[in-house]
Amino acid sequence: MDVPENLHSLIEETTNNAVGLVYSQPTQQQIVQDKQNYLISYIESLQKKDEHTNDNKKQKVNPFENPEKSLTVYKGNKYTILLNKFPVQKNHFLLITNEFIRQDALLDPTDLITVYKILKQLSKVKNTDSKTVAFFNSGSNSGASQAHKHIQFIRVDNDYKLFPDRVVAGKQFYVPNFQTPPMADQTKSYAHFIAPLHKDGDDDDVASDDLAMTYIALVQNCLTVIKDHHHLEGLEAPQTSSLSYNFIMTPDWLMLVPRSKETAATNGHFFNINSLGFLGLILTKNKDTYEKLVNNEFLIDTDILQKVGFPREYEKPDKEGDY
Ligand code: AMP
Repeated sequence: MDVPENLHSLIEETTNNAVGLVYSQPTQQQIVQDKQNYLISYIESLQKKDEHTNDNKKQKVNPFENPEKSLTVYKGNKYTILLNKFPVQKNHFLLITNEFIRQDALLDPTDLITVYKILKQLSKVKNTDSKTVAFFNSGSNSGASQAHKHIQFIRVDNDYKLFPDRVVAGKQFYVPNFQTPPMADQTKSYAHFIAPLHKDGDDDDVASDDLAMTYIALVQNCLTVIKDHHHLEGLEAPQTSSLSYNFIMTPDWLMLVPRSKETAATNGHFFNINSLGFLGLILTKNKDTYEKLVNNEFLIDTDILQKVGFPREYEKPDKEGDY
């Protein structure tokens, strides 16, 4: 799909004229620090969204089969750009496939290059104090609620530091392989794989094939973690179809996090985590949980993120790519 040059204004225009957006405005929000910043949000209205999602599930409604007209930003041959009906912020939007494709199918090279082009296009918008981040929750443990393939886009304030930016600083694009594995942040306790996408030069865009090879290399690393975990825990070998992971992309990096479960339970508190959790954005609809989070009563990295992912010791012991 050719990404429209005026995508940013199309999104703004559609948002201004949209009917039926149900914002999940934070009731309270605070940044807390563990080894990194986390943005903790208490969102009372998440309840409403959950009710709607559960109703949809019961009635087996696929909201992306006939996307709502007033939420549609742009319709191409293969994809539609659609506003999220339950945005976590203004201009939260989705890229959905026009034909039904399962959310747990791998991303294909066209999906990847389209996501990348959208990110590049939006990074050209001047005078903003935030950057666009794409994410994709795939597999039953990933925190996805819809079965139809969709990639989401949100904006993150420039002041809010994303750790992969630090990991890839000064690194040039390469396709990870056995000799040059993906990168990781040593301070994190959970397995994750980062590939730098930044390229200096006349043509600073990563080519579609290179993007696809990079993604597949990171998927393979996730599968290895899941397989090693099953092996070490004496469990039956996993099916390829049991692959669950979170995918997060900016114009500068791609990160995949293998997932072991959807929800972490800690001292009677429950955390439903999707890709946003691995950006340090923790949302809760429970006031008591919120207060405990902001009072540092949980170690977010180990009590929550590692529990829904895998410990880093399941990563390959090759430290070359480590930050
Ligand atoms: P996920 O939960 O990761 O599968 O993402 C699905 C997203 O679709 C959620 O963020 C929902 O808010 C959003 N959503 C649900 N119903 C609709 C709809 N009718 N139109 C647009 N977005 C929707």
